Amino acid sequence: MQIITTKKGLQATVAACKQINKTIGLVPTMGALHDGHASLVKRCVAENDVCFVSVFVNPTQFNNKEDLAKYPRNLEKDAQFLCDLGADFVFAPTPEEMYSEEEMNTTFSFDFAGLDQVMEGKMRPGHFNGVVQVVSRLFYLVQPNRAYFGEKDFQQLAIIHHMVERSSLKDTFDNLRIIGCPIVREASGLALSSRNERLSEDEKKTAINISRILKESLTWPRTSVKEVEQRVVDEINQVPGLEVEYYSIVDGTTLQETDTFDNAVGCVTVYCGPVRLIDNIKY
Ligand code: AMP
Repeated sequence: MQIITTKKGLQATVAACKQINKTIGLVPTMGALHDGHASLVKRCVAENDVCFVSVFVNPTQFNNKEDLAKYPRNLEKDAQFLCDLGADFVFAPTPEEMYSEEEMNTTFSFDFAGLDQVMEGKMRPGHFNGVVQVVSRLFYLVQPNRAYFGEKDFQQLAIIHHMVERSSLKDTFDNLRIIGCPIVREASGLALSSRNERLSEDEKKTAINISRILKESLTWPRTSVKEVEQRVVDEINQVPGLEVEYYSIVDGTTLQETDTFDNAVGCVTVYCGPVRLIDNIKY
């Protein structure tokens, strides 16, 4: 496995792969890798001739400087993890390599068709502009046939589908398939996340209640979407140490409010102590 740190080096490697007609898979990550990432990488290795993984903590998608500073980073450990999984190339640039100063300091503009006006987009203004900025650049550099994303970040996945299939940028991404992969959880039900590293053992036990309550909500009487939404909020908030930021049951494609449970997904953000956790469930 080779680690590449420059755009030039990446493009030369991609060109060499394309020349001998290799299919290319890409897994974008921010590092601090765990078995959730591993599920994407394994699938990428299995389905493509060559597997690229990017490890880049993208500063333009953080609207909170403290969150960016505290984001766990350990490239050496991540590289070993990826090597063991059979990845071929790791792209790990610095922010300066990735962006010009101007790009770093101006919001990337993009027509989200409203997908960014709800949930994470509403709570973290500019977050998805940064996500589309980095992902579109990675697609441009790697020219993948397939790119893998987790359903854990459900809104992000919907936005990437929109970008590749329906947005003004779509013609740039010919022959690219976006592959959504199921959420990987601990045996306890807690969704794996790089942010879990910041939870104490006690907080981790507390956080388990999030997925427990989401799962239980599937069995509750489906009186109305609003009532189920409210009950999830109430039950999570009753757990000492947890505080819901939002719980929204939305249409799984448009991400807009829905009054039926058909194709509905419930997306939650909860503070467990200082750590902001997200999870979701399909009804
Ligand atoms: P991140 O490093 O957090 O940006 O995540 C990189 C990719 O891994 C994203 O597509 C995430 O949705 C995905 N991912 C993160 N956690 C999980 C998980 N528990 N299960 C499945 N995919 C995940």
